[in-house]
Amino acid sequence: MNDLPLSVVSLGLMLTVLTSSLPLCAANSSAHSPNDFHISLADPGAQWVNQAYQQRRASGRVVPDTLDLQDNGVLAIWALTAGLDPDLEYRAWFSIYFDRRPLCLRHHQLSEFDALGKYLESLTLMRLMTGSNLNLDKEAKLWELLDRHTKADGLVYYEPDAADAKPAYAYTQARALLARICRYELNPSPALKSPIENTLETMVQQKLTRGFGFGALLPACRYYELTENPTALKLAGMDYAAMLEEKLFAEAGSFGGHFHMHTGAALGLLAYGQAQHDTNLIRKVCKIYEFARAQGTEFGYFPEALPPAPWVMRISNEGCCTADMTCLAAGLSRSGVADYWDDLDRYLRNQLTELQMKRTDFTDRIPQENQVPIPIRPEAGEARLVDLKRFIGCFAGWAAPNDFAGPAHFWLQQCCLGNCPRGLYAGWDSIVTSSRAGLRVNLLLNRSTPEIDVDSFLPYEGKVNLRLNKAAKVAVRIPGWVNLENVQAKVNGRNSNYSRNGRYCEFEHLKSGDTITLSFPLAERVLKYKVPGPAWASKYSVVDENSGSGMELPKSIGQTPPETVKQILAPVEYSATYRGNTIVDMQPAGGIYPLYQRFELRGKAPLRSVNRYVPEKLLRDWY
Ligand SMILES: [Zn+2]
Repeated sequence: MNDLPLSVVSLGLMLTVLTSSLPLCAANSSAHSPNDFHISLADPGAQWVNQAYQQRRASGRVVPDTLDLQDNGVLAIWALTAGLDPDLEYRAWFSIYFDRRPLCLRHHQLSEFDALGKYLESLTLMRLMTGSNLNLDKEAKLWELLDRHTKADGLVYYEPDAADAKPAYAYTQARALLARICRYELNPSPALKSPIENTLETMVQQKLTRGFGFGALLPACRYYELTENPTALKLAGMDYAAMLEEKLFAEAGSFGGHFHMHTGAALGLLAYGQAQHDTNLIRKVCKIYEFARAQGTEFGYFPEALPPAPWVMRISNEGCCTADMTCLAAGLSRSGVADYWDDLDRYLRNQLTELQMKRTDFTDRIPQENQVPIPIRPEAGEARLVDLKRFIGCFAGWAAPNDFAGPAHFWLQQCCLGNCPRGLYAGWDSIVTSSRAGLRVNLLLNRSTPEIDVDSFLPYEGKVNLRLNKAAKVAVRIPGWVNLENVQAKVNGRNSNYSRNGRYCEFEHLKSGDTITLSFPLAERVLKYKVPGPAWASKYSVVDENSGSGMELPKSIGQTPPETVKQILAPVEYSATYRGNTIVDMQPAGGIYPLYQRFELRGKAPLRSVNRYVPEKLLRDWY
């Protein structure tokens, strides 16, 4: 396709991530659109990535070359399928250490079986979103792995053939259940139904509730809403009661400790509120969401944990937290109980997509003092990492606001690859919604549906084109940063009137083929954020020497003197330059894998041709 360096992937708005030591000009010349996707691996499977992109480009419409979440979806499919371990049943590697020399991968049984359901749900969602058939054979291996470890009672077992085989804990079951329900909803066949109902029966009998995060609540509610299965409702009720007993949240919605565990539980509560038509419960979820939002930044940086968790968990952003907040913002806004549309727009344009790994050349920039020589320990489930390109499309496990590699860990934890695509899907699916009330464009992001094509010129220009594929009336939400008085509307090039309903502009009597153009002034603004923890690489990074499974924190963390902890947690002030809801620069800049190097996103929007995939059938609201 072109002659970019092998280690580089350029994707959408992330074009300028390729600055510093890399020849950027090739990607930015007229011969190569900023969205050119280029990856070249020894693995012949990589050809599929390019083919998937070429298919999208062939004979497509010419549209602004701006953020298209379908691109991120194809990358996510690559990551979910290319980095599996053929020597261990095609299990996913859970940990990737960028700071160890040699670079190292490590298995972690418990988290990998959690991740199995997450990966399969995410793959189903990403294929639905993109239409991509990239690495279908690898996905089949993952379904086989799940089936092989599922016994007749419907539960997942780590060692299904062992004489004393014990089922995995409730969260692993819940994630596998959710993946199967996602697949079943798209293809409701009896063969897919029976393992779901076996699992539900056994979970009720064995009182398998709670566990980490949303427990059984989310899948049980989804299945109940889909089928009215009474066992699903019973399990949801049991899990809800157990959650109340656990006192995860204070009355005001506040919580402490692990962030993602609580926001995941909030997603379960939202599903229960919707299944029970309980608006009061949904309002409680709003309180939780607003408390959680106040613990991070409005562009989607949320810490891995809150006090009283140890300092090391409070100074970086886990992708899972951003994914949950994206899903909550989507679900709560779509419920009609709250308006978090601008939050959702900011998370999607910024942290969620910026956390996705699009380059591999950064490991050498980890400071010498943070590079640790530790031999590979096969007995601890480790292997040498020889090709980081297989992991392109993963999501950061511990990021700083300005750097993919956060101050505490130069590692990846692959739970985030399991969860972040849920956020991509929830966001993409929320751009346009269609109900009895009519067609709504909630976010000015690119998307095509059978009813409408949304072509966004943001953040280059304050402009969006909406082409009607069917006669309709349409309501378009104007983002919160735009003064509504300054919105100009044209239909087929002529000034047009519209009525206003809150932030929505409503257009009626539109014919198939009509194009609405909305334009408004776009000024840059700088917002400042204070975030606890060093800006990027620090001498406080956790070195994984003897942490056994790779998940426990080294003992030394608990022995850090209080004065040092205070010093580490001292907030750094970041300046984010926004164009609309998109950050185009972050200062101070990171130094290993700097984020928000988006200086180019100014002036006239470049164009590209694209063949956007439009699925025939969607899931009911999925978040
Ligand atoms: Zn995670």
